[in-house]
Amino acid sequence: MKREETLRITEIFHSIQGESTWAGLPCTFVRLTGCPLRCVWCDTEYAFHGGEKVALPEIVRRVEGLGCTLVEITGGEPLVHPNAFRLAAELLERGFTVLVETSGAVDVAPLDPRVHKIMDLKCPGSGEESKNLWSNLGHLTGRDEVKFVVKDRADYEWARSVIRERGLDRRVMEGHLKALLFSPVWGEMELRPLAEWILEDGLPARLQLQVHKLIWGPETRGV
Ligand code: SF4
Repeated sequence: MKREETLRITEIFHSIQGESTWAGLPCTFVRLTGCPLRCVWCDTEYAFHGGEKVALPEIVRRVEGLGCTLVEITGGEPLVHPNAFRLAAELLERGFTVLVETSGAVDVAPLDPRVHKIMDLKCPGSGEESKNLWSNLGHLTGRDEVKFVVKDRADYEWARSVIRERGLDRRVMEGHLKALLFSPVWGEMELRPLAEWILEDGLPARLQLQVHKLIWGPETRGV
């Protein structure tokens, strides 16, 4: 690792993983600064700017200091930073289980195949549907998850079409994709109708809550 390799960090903290199939587990989060997207319901706008430039060895040292073997690299959009790929590899080499949460707008191909990718597909209600990089679906494996953040019925129907037309349901059933996640936009999408739609359509999808917000409240940072 070269000393001059750095990343801009908004926060590094230890918490309960709130999303994905890893929800509920203790997890260290490395939140990188910056995102080229502007989802209308974004809950991490504070990560768009600022941050602290930190050398990669120092980031690894801080993560090791928190003593948790599960680490998520997130943002913002972490993969706009070339050194994020290096950080993931460095953490893997040290024995960490590494999750990367990405918007799906950046090519995930260079990620170390041992990384567990949690990749958004941006529904129309986000305002960023045009940023979906569809070729990324070809780089997902049985360890990866696809997330749809759903604002309303139109978003749900869009997600359902994508799942069926691109064979994501089949990939989950055959073990070539770990999970499909439906996440309601906090404060806008009620849980009950979303649950009923998933059941009515028989989608092999997981309705996920943002557990960290239920525990600490929706506005709390660093949790
Ligand atoms: S991709 Fe993520 S961080 Fe960027 S605007 Fe959308 S929700 Fe916010």
